[in-house]
Amino acid sequence: MSGALRDLLAARIRAEGPLGLAEYMAAALGHPRHGYYATRDPLARDFTTAPEISQMFGELIGLWLVERWQALRSPPRVRLVELGPGRGTLMADALRAARLVPAFLEAVELDLVETSPVLRARQEAALAALAGPPPQWHDRLEQVPEGPLLLVANEFFDALPIRQFQRTPRGWAERRIGLAPDGRLAWGLGPDLPAGALPGLPPAELGEVVELCPAGERLAAEIGGRISEQGGAALILDYGYTASQPGDTLQALREGAPADPLEAPGEADVTAHVDFAALGRAATAAGARCHGPVGQGAFLEALGIGARAARLQQGAGEAQHRAIAEALARLTGPEQMGRLFKALALTAPEAPAPAGFPAPG
Ligand code: SAH
Repeated sequence: MSGALRDLLAARIRAEGPLGLAEYMAAALGHPRHGYYATRDPLARDFTTAPEISQMFGELIGLWLVERWQALRSPPRVRLVELGPGRGTLMADALRAARLVPAFLEAVELDLVETSPVLRARQEAALAALAGPPPQWHDRLEQVPEGPLLLVANEFFDALPIRQFQRTPRGWAERRIGLAPDGRLAWGLGPDLPAGALPGLPPAELGEVVELCPAGERLAAEIGGRISEQGGAALILDYGYTASQPGDTLQALREGAPADPLEAPGEADVTAHVDFAALGRAATAAGARCHGPVGQGAFLEALGIGARAARLQQGAGEAQHRAIAEALARLTGPEQMGRLFKALALTAPEAPAPAGFPAPG
């Protein structure tokens, strides 16, 4: 198995020429036989996400979703959608917390957008244990039936393929992946594109790299369009930046350690930071209102994570007490996940700010 995807990509480069980074990422993560997500549960080995750190994360998001449903005047049917639910932990914790409002659970049609068969099985097990609304799986958001939408996506957008462009004296050139003389995958630059060929790129100095995530922008526009036409709200959490800016943020993790993103396609998680400003622009252009982004720490604190942690600590043993304090610090601490990770909400244009976000100014 090992090296199979590398060999396929090398053959494709020999036949067709260098690959764009977006094509490379799409194959490395999503190739149906050899892609990283298609073949394994990455959360077991390579990284930990907020819902896996503590149940508090999913619980607070569950209450956030219930509050948004009530803000829609409690429609009798609502599509509750999660993009890339991982092990199903966030959704299981959210639905458990939402038992406080049984009418919400009765209204929910649960739609999970997930391409990995390995993770679909994990999600099925996590949700079966809960006996909540039965999930339906989809490969793409497009396949989720119409209706008012409550959507959540945690660490999903960072896995969508990006393109990178480098500033040259004449304009821009796209970074591409070709073959070095020794047969390894290696970076190269495509032909020069005139500066005006890529409207919307942030200004950059000579040699600097800027990133675009066309798949992320398309998805943000699709979510924004649905919400503005049919009602609803979306909550997007991820690591990334508030304003579009230059910088190469491509990163790879292999067996939990930083790796060269080109070294072993399919064996490493390859991601990039999320440009929240670009997502916000795409969703706004599609008719939605954008709130935030705010830091994950500030967001969770506004939702009452401090009080929730204190409540869980009551009656806990010493070790458990300490573990809860540590989880709280990891999720909210400015040097941990509190600042780099951000929350962005999308609502209909007339909707007031959702919980955890400042009122629109
Ligand atoms: N939200 C989870 C998992 C994050 S990992 C958590 O917070 O723990 C990213 C998730 O998105 C995985 O479930 C992965 O299989 C899924 N995924 C990645 N790219 C996808 C795509 N293009 N379409 C659908 N699911 C995708």
